[in-house]
Amino acid sequence: LGNQLIRAVQLAEIGEMAAGFAHEINNPLQIIKGEHLLVETLMKEIAALLPPTSGEDLDEIQDSMDQIKLQVNRCSEITHAILKFGRKNDSKPEVLNPCDIIPEIIHMVEKKAHVEGIDMRMDIAHDTPRFQGDASQFQQVILNLVNNAMDAIAQAHGTSGGLLSVTSEKTDQGDAQINISDNGVGIGSDNIGKIFSPFFTTKPVGKGTGLGLSVCYGIIKNLGGTMTVKSEQGKGTTFVITLPAMV
Ligand code: ADP
Repeated sequence: LGNQLIRAVQLAEIGEMAAGFAHEINNPLQIIKGEHLLVETLMKEIAALLPPTSGEDLDEIQDSMDQIKLQVNRCSEITHAILKFGRKNDSKPEVLNPCDIIPEIIHMVEKKAHVEGIDMRMDIAHDTPRFQGDASQFQQVILNLVNNAMDAIAQAHGTSGGLLSVTSEKTDQGDAQINISDNGVGIGSDNIGKIFSPFFTTKPVGKGTGLGLSVCYGIIKNLGGTMTVKSEQGKGTTFVITLPAMV
């Protein structure tokens, strides 16, 4: 369907709002789930109340309780994902040197890439400018993009023939630019406008929350940067991040 260059819009703000909700929802969830695990207690209480002959009834109740636990866990998985990324108060901005931080991050995923038969390449131009950011948030952004790339590669190639490259350079305007490219499944034109939306995912339940990209976008935007995507279905995807240079 040809190349597309899509600029993400203010959807990250929805992500921020989601983080606020997540925080509020997490508290009651913790009580249901928490140390005292209300469903477990309830189950014991019911078992104690029923006559010893009510085995089948108990099984049915147990099934319902298991469902409650499963669904509560799912909710809590989502709220944790939002909170983990959304915590802006923890951010400690510092000047980051791409020549140091990008290789450090890539080192963390080299083993996984190797196991998945992915040829991982890195090319950090020495004149890539330093930029401002919180090191652990920046790490989250890159890891999220690399992990998505690996998923897309696995879908297209299984465990051989994958190519993933992380490069950086100085833009004509003097900013830092980081490119993350894969030869994975790519993104169709029907989906490409949605990928930065919170909760948009094409991954099966339990594998994706759909929050990664919206939060990454929010982090980059907060630093005064941009994040764009270019993709061709069946060929691959490139995410481009730019960040203002720190001089
Ligand atoms: P999640 O990974 O939990 O689904 P994200 O917000 O990180 O959430 O990604 C949203 C969706 O964008 C993914 O489900 C996938 O469909 C698409 N996507 C993201 N990165 C890539 C990529 N490199 N190649 C193909 N599709 C991608």
